[in-house]
Amino acid sequence: MDRRSFLKKILSFLAVSGAAMGGFLKAGSAGAQATEEHARKLWGFGVSSDKCIGCARCVIACKSENNVPKEPFFYRTWVERYMIPMEGEAVVTNIHMGLAPEAEAPSTKGILRSFFVPKLCNQCAHPPCVQVCPVGATFSTDDGVVLVNDKTCIGCRYCIQACPYGARYLHPKTHTADKCTFCYHRLNRDLLPACVEVCPTQARVIGDLHSPASPMTRFKRMNKIFVLKSNLNTEPKVLYAHIDGEVR
Ligand code: SF4
Ligand code: SF4
Repeated sequence: MDRRSFLKKILSFLAVSGAAMGGFLKAGSAGAQATEEHARKLWGFGVSSDKCIGCARCVIACKSENNVPKEPFFYRTWVERYMIPMEGEAVVTNIHMGLAPEAEAPSTKGILRSFFVPKLCNQCAHPPCVQVCPVGATFSTDDGVVLVNDKTCIGCRYCIQACPYGARYLHPKTHTADKCTFCYHRLNRDLLPACVEVCPTQARVIGDLHSPASPMTRFKRMNKIFVLKSNLNTEPKVLYAHIDGEVR
């Protein structure tokens, strides 16, 4: 090969690799931008207690979406029935899946009022479950969801004991801690959590707390907001509207 054709080859190689590198850099910065946008999100969940009719469709949909065992004492989300008597303490029971609320309703004799309260992991901003995990298997994502890595969880149950909301259980098959993730796998595909999708009364909403256009921003604007056990300073991201003062 003479000197002239050698130089020509080198120049054309540099042109091709330069273009490829430019593309790579562009793709890299687009990726960084997407990650940044993702990180700017902060997922929050809204529950309008007054809209819940206790149908338990949310519980059933969650179980099927997230491989939660069928037995009633395993759940990622659950619905409590509160019955407030004329005298004495509120009676709280869990709605069982597959049963219409009236099929298992206790006697209403002497009951002043009754209502339903859907519950789930509060995706706390200061989560005790994360603090106690000895192996870092429970962690918070940048967009505000607390997750469990089932590859590294050793099933010690510390997080289950530390959660003040009773939101976790030990999965009998995997022997790892399990709980609501806001259906994170669905959120990442722009889908609603299974429970939000099936709720017939829109008692559940989800959205980005940082976005002015999100359903959660509207939920916060339109309602007086409460969180559960606010005295614990866990800073829940599950917000409640129209909740009775008796709820704990
Ligand atoms: S509700 Fe319980 S499981 Fe969920 S983040 Fe808070 S402490 Fe952790
Ligand atoms: S059960 Fe798993 S996630 Fe919970 S504290 Fe133990 S190792 Fe961490």
